Amino acid sequence: MRVHGDKRIQRRTGVLQLNNYKDAKPMLQEDFDNMCGYCGKNSTIMNERFHIDHFVPKSFDSDRENDYYNLVLACPKCNLTKSNKWPTKDKTVANDGRIGFVDPATEEYDIHMERDEQGYIRGITPLGENVCKNLNFDVRRTDLYWKIQCLYQLQAELEKFRDKLDNEELRFYVVSNQFLKKYIKEAFVQGE
Ligand SMILES: [Zn+2]
Repeated sequence: MRVHGDKRIQRRTGVLQLNNYKDAKPMLQEDFDNMCGYCGKNSTIMNERFHIDHFVPKSFDSDRENDYYNLVLACPKCNLTKSNKWPTKDKTVANDGRIGFVDPATEEYDIHMERDEQGYIRGITPLGENVCKNLNFDVRRTDLYWKIQCLYQLQAELEKFRDKLDNEELRFYVVSNQFLKKYIKEAFVQGE
């Protein structure tokens, strides 16, 4: 499965140099469909205030601070974990094929990363493994937030049929609702 499920992240074309990168938040939220580019967490479901990550860190390339095409909508955990890391040490090289980062708003991300059946994000190439390591995906509960999102979608689908449900189906609805609340509680108690 793809890290972002069936959603595709793509930055709109034709955005000129910004006065301040912070102005790009609404555009990023739209283009990233409210998802963290790196881990796929949804900001609206988790009710979390997301950050704006500079793909090439400002410390490596201050010229791209206000370049829309260098911005990534990111959850606080991914943004703070990535921080000033830039393994290639060359601002023009995101990765050398083995180490570095991959822009999550490109199809290249799917070549190196995937989400396994449990919902965990895994590298499927040496570079993908390096990205996972740099974002601490190897020790983070990247599955938990994904499961919660899947349950939310299921709930939304079920909600449409609620009036038509018989007793057994209604019981299924209630049980899934309980699971949802359990996972959300787990997510907030354990955090990331
Ligand atoms: Zn994230």
